[in-house]
Order: sequence, then structure tokens, then C-alpha cells
Amino acid sequence: MEDARDLFYREQLMQRRRNLEAAASEFKQTVRLMRLMQEVDTALRRLDECSFGVCELCHDPIEEERLVADPLVTVCLDHMTPEQHRQLEDDLDLAHHIQGQFIPKGPITADGWEARFHYEPAGVVSGDYLDLLSPAGPDGDLYFLLGDVAGKGVAASMLMAHLHALFRSLIWMHEPVGEMMERANRIFAESTLASQYATLALVKASGDGGLEICNAGHCPPLLLQGDEVHAVEATGLPLGMFSEGSYETRSARIEPGDGVLLYTDGITEAMDGSGAEYGAERLAQLAAEGRNIPLEELVLTCVQDVQTFTQGKPRTDDRTLMAIRRVE
Ligand SMILES: [Zn+2]
Repeated sequence: MEDARDLFYREQLMQRRRNLEAAASEFKQTVRLMRLMQEVDTALRRLDECSFGVCELCHDPIEEERLVADPLVTVCLDHMTPEQHRQLEDDLDLAHHIQGQFIPKGPITADGWEARFHYEPAGVVSGDYLDLLSPAGPDGDLYFLLGDVAGKGVAASMLMAHLHALFRSLIWMHEPVGEMMERANRIFAESTLASQYATLALVKASGDGGLEICNAGHCPPLLLQGDEVHAVEATGLPLGMFSEGSYETRSARIEPGDGVLLYTDGITEAMDGSGAEYGAERLAQLAAEGRNIPLEELVLTCVQDVQTFTQGKPRTDDRTLMAIRRVE
């Protein structure tokens, strides 16, 4: 019996076949169309013969994120032609350039809040998502978003771009954060593949010190109040997993000097030489101790501590951190 993965690719290939047939009946049957049709049929035959997703040259599995993006690929990254390699590098450069435009330009200080962040992709492109938004409105609320998209490379960066556009639109509806997350989840689930999802922490901050936090399966944001640190565990599932989902909201009112620390698992799952993980507790400890230092310095201290912990081992995951603090 065919497993879910094969079924998924079969459906993708059949859809392509139908698109090609429609194109062929509408336009002339060009050589290009005929060749694509042959490629689709070959891929379908490979599914039948259980050789789909295997490199034709070395027989190793082809990278899954490349298959998702294009089920017609027949060789692994190592066995691409120089021309294919050049194209892939061009695509990555373009994705990197586009992604650069999505990252907030710099620190913000507005309406009684300040925020500083550190954003460090492991590769040319990143699946980490970060945004700071202040939609014009009578309430003057600020929104801080930090997320992590499943997968790596171009496919992940495309999803990240999708999230970015989605929240930039939703924010203008001025809905309660729980409802905003529910809507984002529904749209994200309906417009992405089943294997594509994203974890996301959303913080809404009001001028009077009010905070609303929604956590869609993301690393628990650390709420820093006085000497105490509270981890805000997930209040709902990651975005895009199921289209029906509800998201609870945690509310707090905090004093000047208090704040929130958001981060991705590239920080807490960073490993030292023995394979031990950095962990959220060490981060929480640093955040608690850093209450009275400038926010910029707190972010830098956290990042440097992770680097010290990993003893310069090469990074394998994106590292993103955002600190938010209420100011007088
Ligand atoms: Zn190969």
C-alpha cells in the first residue's frame, strides 16, 4: 500500500499532468510541453516502481525540500549539473536579497516600549521570521512577532515571506490577538502543503503596560517581571498544521523595566562539544540578571553566552532573539 508521502507526491504529479493537459489543449502541443509531460509520467512510473525520490546517479535519497518544491527533480544536490548548480545559487541569492527586505531595519523605541533584536541565519536564507509592527490607530498598540518555519533553504524562506505578508495584512484588522492567530492559521493552512507549518509567538503591547501573548507552538516567550521569569507555554498548535485551531491569550500588565524575551530554538538547542543543549533555563537566568542593563547589551550578552557555550562550533540552525522592554 502507498504511504502518505507517496500519495502526496502522486497527487502533486497528477495535478501537474492535468495542468499540462489543459495547457496542451489550449495552446499548441509544443516540444517543451511534451517533454514536461514525459517527465511527469516518468516520475509517476518511478513512484510505482518505488524509486521515486532516489538520485538517479548515486541512489541516495533526494533532499525532501527540493522534492516538495519540484517533484520532477531526479538527482541529489551533489549530482546536479554545473548549470543547475549555478541556477540554484542564483535562486538562493535572490531569496536572500528578498528576505533582507523583510527584516526590520533597526531597533525601535515607541509608545513606552523599546525592542532590540539579533538575527543570524545559518545559511544564505533563513526560516526564522521576525517583525515589529505598529499599525496606525487610536490605540497605538505595538505587535512583536517571532517565528520559525519548518524546513530549510529556499522553501522555508518562501514560507517565511508568506507569513510576513499575512501578518502585515491581518494587523490592520485590529482584531484581538487570539482571533488574529486563528485567522492566520486558517489562511496559512489553506495556502500551504500539509508538511509546511510554522511556530510563532505574537506579543501585543499597549501604551499602559498591557501585554497580550499568543504562542502557536513556539519556544516559550520569557515574561520578565521584577525578579521573576515566567515561560509562556504554547497556547495553541503551530500555524498551518490544521485549519481549525483556537489560540488562547495570556495577558499581563507590566511595569517599566519589565519585558519579554522571544527566541527561536536555534538559541536554546545550540549544542556544546559534548552534545548538551544550551537550554531555556540558562537564557532565563541571563534575562533575569540583565534587568538593569541597556536592552541592546542584554541581547548581545545572550548571543555571546550562546557562542561561549558552543565553543565556536559551526551553527546548524538560524539564531534569532528579540528583547522587548517597557520604558518610562
Ligand atoms: Zn546523487
